[in-house]
Amino acid sequence: MAAEHKKSVLVVVAHADDMEFMAAGTIARFVDELGFDVYEYILTDNSKGSYRLTEEELIDISAAEARAAGAILGLKEVRLAGYVDGELNETPINILRGQIMAVIREVRADIVMSWDPFAPYEEHPDHRHVAMATLEAAHFSGNPLFYPEHIQPPYQPAELYWFAKAPMNASLFVDISSTIDKKIEALLAHECQMELTVDMLAREAETMDIEVPMLQNPDAEQRAQLIEMGIRNFCGDLGGKTGVAYAEQFRYERVGMLETVLGMPPRGSDFS
Ligand SMILES: [Zn+2]
Repeated sequence: MAAEHKKSVLVVVAHADDMEFMAAGTIARFVDELGFDVYEYILTDNSKGSYRLTEEELIDISAAEARAAGAILGLKEVRLAGYVDGELNETPINILRGQIMAVIREVRADIVMSWDPFAPYEEHPDHRHVAMATLEAAHFSGNPLFYPEHIQPPYQPAELYWFAKAPMNASLFVDISSTIDKKIEALLAHECQMELTVDMLAREAETMDIEVPMLQNPDAEQRAQLIEMGIRNFCGDLGGKTGVAYAEQFRYERVGMLETVLGMPPRGSDFS
């Protein structure tokens, strides 16, 4: 069912490029087709996102690249909380969920999107930690007794979109055939992160003793080709599951029990 009112979407992630890898095609549809306001909240400073740059260089560069990608996607705002990359779990979850809840209340988020806290496998501690903190923040943001010190009044999101590299029970495949080019463009705005991605592939090839000519000191254009190839293969495989060219997948969750109480059929997402 298409939204009657212009929804507000909050994407909560650990790193500068998480959203672009997992959901930028869907985000572009929220903005371009549905006219929704989308806000991105990045919890870390991305200071471990390179095999080449120093932590200090990375913090400034990755923040600028996140804002450039956000501009391509038409986001209302890209906000960084600045926690140390890779060490998010040193901050207690109650503190993180309070900060996330404050932003949910501020932007009056109808839809919250993040890493899936219940995905069966996720190796990155920052992804696991932001996922659980976001789950708790989204479910209790309507309760005035949680963080009563917040300036903004309680607000209850209604829909949650969870993404994962190893998803559990993905229930929503969003057709991103119309926005795959924008997804790739937004990803390529993360130059230092795409360099890291290609460096990781090169190290993998080295470990496996595989000769990959494209990975031998690729220049920026060759890196872009590798990233585009990877994204088209990944999103193309997901699209094949539902008979479209390209897709992104989510575990879609509706918050609350209103439909059950009123005996209404459960409402689907804006893409159902
Ligand atoms: Zn990440």
